Amino acid sequence: MPINGELRGMQLRRMKNHSARPRTHMCSWCHHVYRSRGTAMFSTQVVGTDGRRRIGNYICQNLDCSIRIRNLASDPPTYLPETIELSHKVWRLQTNIGSFMARANLLADLL
Ligand SMILES: [Zn+2]
Repeated sequence: MPINGELRGMQLRRMKNHSARPRTHMCSWCHHVYRSRGTAMFSTQVVGTDGRRRIGNYICQNLDCSIRIRNLASDPPTYLPETIELSHKVWRLQTNIGSFMARANLLADLL
């Protein structure tokens, strides 16, 4: 993993996207693009600025990013395909997850 140091596990809260109008959504971690619904807000408790108590990302609602970057999901592939190599997609996914966890761990220490 391209993150130095130790990361701790955390509890995530999932809030599905219930918007009335289906819209295109992209996973913040793996960059899979859904033509309509497919992402959900995953957040964790922290102490943030301005009294904010949670931080989160819109990511694949089934947490199947690792499968999606390899095009192994049974439902339609990404709406906007990329031409980058799989190794770069893996690196990007690990970096995005590691960055979120590092930030959440740091802010959770303030609880
Ligand atoms: Zn994803």
